[in-house]
Amino acid sequence: MLKVKQFVFNAFGENTYVISDSETREAAVIDPGMMAESERREFDNYISASQLKIVEVINTHLHLDHCFGNNYVRDRYGVKVAANIGDAPLGADLTGQLRRFGGRGDADAVSIDVQLKEGDVIKIGSGELQVIETPGHSPGGICLYCPQGGFLISGDTLFRGGVGRTDLYGGNARQLSESIRKKLFTLPDETKVLPGHDRFTTIGDEKRSNPYV
Ligand SMILES: [Zn+2]
Repeated sequence: MLKVKQFVFNAFGENTYVISDSETREAAVIDPGMMAESERREFDNYISASQLKIVEVINTHLHLDHCFGNNYVRDRYGVKVAANIGDAPLGADLTGQLRRFGGRGDADAVSIDVQLKEGDVIKIGSGELQVIETPGHSPGGICLYCPQGGFLISGDTLFRGGVGRTDLYGGNARQLSESIRKKLFTLPDETKVLPGHDRFTTIGDEKRSNPYV
């Protein structure tokens, strides 16, 4: 049985998820956005209290608010970072991203250790996450679908009543809409959508009422 824990981290209100198997205690961390010392502590406390063994960091995409904590988790827990290669230029230029949002100072670059592509499967104990490429918000954007748990981690591709912005590096509105209609809206209606910001929704609700798709 897979368990989902959600944290809301950093000034962008980004959702970080920990997906774990309650029996084997293996866990994947999706989009580690912890930035402040208190956020790192909150995360570490959860991992140790739940006795989890992190097996991988997975990024839905490499916008800075989704990877402020990438290198922290990688180094502290000795794990690899998995993402789609299309976002490598974004990870390499985290400082540039910070500047664009008015931030000062430097941000550590994020590199991709494991390249994920359409159809890849990430095992977490008895469950799995299937990789769905959904470019449009960023060139290498992916969503992660868990058939056993009936949920989709949608990054910034699909939100409750909204979609990701397409005016940043490599964004493309037509491509984003196509990704959502052809790949996400073919999942079962009852699939729970866990987005990169704000509250959860379902595929069925978004098919019925999302005005941006
Ligand atoms: Zn984003």
